[in-house]
Amino acid sequence: MKFKKEEVIQLRKNFMGRLSWIKVKTKKSDLKCPECKRLYSDIQDEKIALMIIKGKSNQHLCNDCADKYIKLGVEDLDKKVKDNKQIKKDIILEIKNMYNQNIPYRIKKLDEYNIEKLTNIRDEKLKSIEHQKFLNSINSSNWKLEEYLVEQYQVIMDKTYLKHTSQIPDYFHDCYQDMFDCGQGYAQNEANAIVFINDKFYSVEIIAEIGSQKQDRGERLYWVENLESIEFEEIEKPKKKPSTIYKYNFNVELLAEDKIVLDKIIEEYCDKI
Ligand SMILES: [Zn+2]
Repeated sequence: MKFKKEEVIQLRKNFMGRLSWIKVKTKKSDLKCPECKRLYSDIQDEKIALMIIKGKSNQHLCNDCADKYIKLGVEDLDKKVKDNKQIKKDIILEIKNMYNQNIPYRIKKLDEYNIEKLTNIRDEKLKSIEHQKFLNSINSSNWKLEEYLVEQYQVIMDKTYLKHTSQIPDYFHDCYQDMFDCGQGYAQNEANAIVFINDKFYSVEIIAEIGSQKQDRGERLYWVENLESIEFEEIEKPKKKPSTIYKYNFNVELLAEDKIVLDKIIEEYCDKI
């Protein structure tokens, strides 16, 4: 063998078509394998190999002689490329199976990603599947929330979508638009909620990014543009606020439509007594 393993920088089998090589080459030394001296016109293999040698010009050789270098421990780039293609194919198949073929749009072009990115996508999906299994294993059917917590503090309990604190951000991400009071001339960029998860209470603070626009008439118009942050921390169980029974006895002169309003208020408060 003409070179030592250390001198070979790169080796690639099947790099050039043998017949087209013979056609374009005129020098005699280019028409035979420099290792085994066989004429390229005498061998059967469809392609020949190429080696890049440290400090020397590139070296052509037959695939059989390339194999001898591979046996010495030189890596074959041709095999590496083919192996990588197979690895990519396998990971893509794995990802497609995990998504039941419904690949989300943001990662639609799987073929264009490299192995590292594909591996990340696969591992992330795997993690989320495992987390979903964990969530499914939480039994929330016996969770009970005392009535005053809802009435006095609007505590939220959702036995499906709030089974674990890891679900808090997604939960509020889906419904935050309703939580901020914005309109012409007024805006609210902070909202709070209390959630009940597995016998514990959490205070959630949601900060929104507010957009606004000058109007032709009147004050600026404000709206929620984006969520800036969702943070939560465990809190003590909110205490029941004491209430007292008051007795009213009064006459009042009203328009018919105002009576409807008053009746509603009375009904709301008095049916509980
Ligand atoms: Zn040879």
